[in-house]
Amino acid sequence: MKGIKNLRRFAGRNLTAKAIHVSDRFLASVKNSKAVDEAQIAGSLRRSRETIGDIDILASTDDPTTLRKAFLATAGIREVESEGETKTRVLSEEGIGVDLRIVTPEQFATALHHFTGSREHNTHLRQRARERSWKLNEYGLWDAADNALETPDEESIFEHLELAWIPPEMREDLGEVERAAQLFQQQEEWPELVELEQIRGTLHCHSTWSDGKASLREMVQSAADRGWKYYGTADHSRTASYAGGLSIEQLRQQRAEIDQLRQEFPDLIILHGIESDILSDGSLDYPDDVLAELDYVVASVHSNFSLAKQQQTDRIEKALRSPYTTVWGHPTGRLLLQREAYEMDMTHLLEVAAEEQVIVELNANPHRLDIDWRWGVRVQELGIDIGIHPDAHSVAGLDDIEHGVGIARKMGLTASQVTNTWKPEQYVERLAVHRLKA
Ligand SMILES: [Zn+2]
Ligand SMILES: [Zn+2]
Repeated sequence: MKGIKNLRRFAGRNLTAKAIHVSDRFLASVKNSKAVDEAQIAGSLRRSRETIGDIDILASTDDPTTLRKAFLATAGIREVESEGETKTRVLSEEGIGVDLRIVTPEQFATALHHFTGSREHNTHLRQRARERSWKLNEYGLWDAADNALETPDEESIFEHLELAWIPPEMREDLGEVERAAQLFQQQEEWPELVELEQIRGTLHCHSTWSDGKASLREMVQSAADRGWKYYGTADHSRTASYAGGLSIEQLRQQRAEIDQLRQEFPDLIILHGIESDILSDGSLDYPDDVLAELDYVVASVHSNFSLAKQQQTDRIEKALRSPYTTVWGHPTGRLLLQREAYEMDMTHLLEVAAEEQVIVELNANPHRLDIDWRWGVRVQELGIDIGIHPDAHSVAGLDDIEHGVGIARKMGLTASQVTNTWKPEQYVERLAVHRLKA
C-alpha cells in the first residue's frame, strides 16, 4: 500500500539527471535558431532541484514563429500538446513535458527571474517591490510613477530592489532574500558557490571487488585521466553479502592491488577505504584492528530501514561516535521517487557528526542526492564538512559528481566547505582525524 501511495505521489516527477539530458537537446535547437536573441533553462531545473516536473525553456526573439518552428523541429517529440505565440508545450519521447516560453528581448531578464521561481521566492521579491509602491512581474519592473526601470539582466532586478544577486539554486525563500539584503547593505556579493572544476578527487567508489561494474584499475585510470589528485575506493563490507561485501581476507588482498596501483600511478593519491554497513546495533562491520588498517571508513545504513525513530537515531549515533568513522554515507537513506528517508532525529545526528568531526556525505548518485539540501543551513551553522561522493559503480558513474555539485550549490556551500576541493595535504590530514582519535 505504501508503494502504491508513493507511486501516486511521485507521478509526474523526474530525476534531474534524466531531465538535464532532455533539456540540453531542446535548448540546443532553440539556441541554434537564427531567430533567437537569448535562451535559457528556467524553472526547477535551473534551481537544481533533486527532481523535476516539467522543463521550462525561456527564449527571447522578435520573430516568434521562426523560433517556435526550430523548437518543434527538435528530435524526440512524442506529442505537441499546445502551440501558441508565447507558449508552446510538447511531450518528449522520454515522457517529460517541455514548455517553451517566448518573450521580447526587453522582457527576458524579468521573465527569466519569474520562470526560474520558486513561487515563494517570487512572492517575496514582489512584496519587496510593493513596499516601494513598485510593481514586479514577468514583463518588467515599474516604479511608483509607473515608469519602467531598466532591467537588461537579472542582476539589475536585484540591484533595483537593493539586493545582492542571488544564485538561482538558492531561490527557495529559505532566508536568501534577507541575506541578500544584508549583503547589499554591506556592499558585498553573494559568496561564490562551489563549482565542478574545483573538485580534485573523491571517495566512496565501488569496483568489481564488490558490486561495481569496472575493475579497480579501470576506476583508478579514469580518476587519473580526469586529472584528479586523489581517489578513494570503498567497496562493500562483509555483511553486505548481497553486494559482494569483502571478507577480511579479501580486504587485505585488495590492499595488495592498491599498493601495486600506487606504484603505477605515482601522481594520484589512492586511498583504501570501505563502505561499512552500520549493523543493527550501530557497530561497524569489522573489528577495530582491521578498520585501523584502512585510510578511511564510510559508514552507511543498508538494512533495518524501518526501526523506530529513537532506535534508528541511537544506532546511527553509535556508528558516528566510532573513532574509525570518517564519512557518514548517504545520511537520510532516501531513494528519490522511491523511498523516503528513515525515521531518525537528523538534527541531533548532525550535531553528533559535527562533534565527532565526521564528514557528512553528499551522495551524488542521481537516485539519492543525499544529504537532502534542505539541511544546508544547519550544516553550515554547525560547520560540518561535506564530501561530494559519486558512489560510482562504473567509470561513467564518476560523472555523477556534477549532480552532487548542483545540490551542494543549492545548499549554499562554498569550495572551502566541500572537502574534495581541498589540496591533497589538507585532504589527507582531514581524513586522518579519526585515526588520531583512535
Ligand atoms: Zn551505500
Ligand atoms: Zn556505496
